[in-house]
Amino acid sequence: MKFTKSFDAPNPIPNEGIENAVSLMKNGMLYRYGHIDSDINFDSPDSPHAEHSEVSKLELALGQYTGHKYVVAVNSCGSAMFIALKAMGIQSNEKVFTNAFTFTAVPSSIVHANAVPIYVECNDQYVIDLKHFEKQITENPDVKYFILSHMRGHVAELDKIQQLCNEHDIRLIEDCAHGLGKRWNPNNLDNSGFVGHHCEIACYSAQSHKMLNSGEGGFIATNDEKLAAYCILAAGSYENLYKKHIARPMDDEIFENIKLEVPNFSLRMNNLTAAILRPQIALIDKRIASYKNKHNRIVEILSEIECFNIPQPVDASDHVGDSLQFNLVDFDREHVEEFVSRCAEKGVKIQIFGLDDNARDFRNWKYSFDAMPAMNKTADIISCACDLRLPITFTMEDIELLGGIISEVIEDMINLGVKISGASAK
Ligand SMILES: *Cc1c(COP(=O)(O)O)cnc(C)c1O
Repeated sequence: MKFTKSFDAPNPIPNEGIENAVSLMKNGMLYRYGHIDSDINFDSPDSPHAEHSEVSKLELALGQYTGHKYVVAVNSCGSAMFIALKAMGIQSNEKVFTNAFTFTAVPSSIVHANAVPIYVECNDQYVIDLKHFEKQITENPDVKYFILSHMRGHVAELDKIQQLCNEHDIRLIEDCAHGLGKRWNPNNLDNSGFVGHHCEIACYSAQSHKMLNSGEGGFIATNDEKLAAYCILAAGSYENLYKKHIARPMDDEIFENIKLEVPNFSLRMNNLTAAILRPQIALIDKRIASYKNKHNRIVEILSEIECFNIPQPVDASDHVGDSLQFNLVDFDREHVEEFVSRCAEKGVKIQIFGLDDNARDFRNWKYSFDAMPAMNKTADIISCACDLRLPITFTMEDIELLGGIISEVIEDMINLGVKISGASAK
């Protein structure tokens, strides 16, 4: 048995996106503010949207999906988090809480803002450890910001985190790079039930490994008009260009009051990116349904194997399911590595977060600290945590094959007498 499909296959661009992109290239209107048409009333969100730029229309469409009033498209989620911190007024050398288990773009956005990340341990459900968060708050009473990362779609106890932040005047940003379409409250089918609504600013990614794919891309989403105005200006809107946004606060005063105080960081999204993305918004729910089916089935297959431990989400909600994380009970690091290499021989690509130069291992974020942070629990968890991508291109048959191969590898290891205490095939 050998698996031959790619584990890195991104979501394909729908035909409508390809056609939009081609017609844009023919007329060359790639700059989001390049569109000049004196008949458009840019002050009105009801003005004919067909006349607005692809980026402006995309911002409106994303906000309608996520349930945020204001959306600003930028070139990446890392840029979105950087601008979010600047909008909140962060000063040089201020500190920002963030997850010790996340992707390097998160602490990098903090460093980009001349600030210092203060890491919070993760627990064995791959989310922020609340006890450690409380301890960090006590030990670092000067910290006023928190970028909470929903790494790999694992969502911590949002209500409690929001409450702690409120009590201690900590301003919350949610990193929703893996959170688009993920419900915190599955019983709330309104879009306020999505993650990204416990914070002041939520940030999204359209990098190829995420739900929406434009290669690169990101979004800032908020319901706060002052923060929205700052983010629009800082992303690269100068003079009166903010008027071309349709997912913006419509009171021009808010912009005029701060306009000359806000740097232009030139982190805009261009129309080509937006043209590719916009038709994908309507596909999010369909993509989630497809991911979920396959995620549920692989979990079912692997749960038959005794040594598989797949953490339950802390909330009651389902996973979006574009990847699976698991631990192998009683496997030490050496055995996990052997398991991964045996899977690789059969075409199944699994990564260990805490291995070599993995960008999801905090020990590799040396740019962000002078002394290695003591995150023993996180180090323990990621040193053996396995990560399996489940691209949209996989079929149910692929999932059966994948499950079969992984089960076989485990059985082989046990039969060959690899000494794993407690592990046996059911
Ligand atoms: C991909 C990712 C990001 C960064 O997104 P970019 O758009 O590449 O900047 C941030 N956080 C997490 C958890 C991610 O996986």
